[in-house]
Amino acid sequence: MSYKCDDCFATATYIASNPKKPSWVDEYYCDHCVKVNALDCGLTVTAVHPPSKGYMQHLPADGNFTEDDLWEAIAEANGVDASEIMDGDLVEWL
Ligand SMILES: [Zn+2]
Repeated sequence: MSYKCDDCFATATYIASNPKKPSWVDEYYCDHCVKVNALDCGLTVTAVHPPSKGYMQHLPADGNFTEDDLWEAIAEANGVDASEIMDGDLVEWL
């Protein structure tokens, strides 16, 4: 899934969340707009993961795979070794 900047509809690279609002009102911004519209307004900003979910193509089409297979697929799609990322949080990569 990829997100569009709320202001200019470029590919969003940041999620801005307002601590005073519930999480479902998160806003999405590109590199350019994030500074003016989020950082300067004191919002909390998190980088969006690369929009390409290339790991999907490395998974079995029948949907049967283990967590290890998933790590392997993610590593393959990102050009890294699975052992380098497997101690991270899987959710971060999905
Ligand atoms: Zn923008």
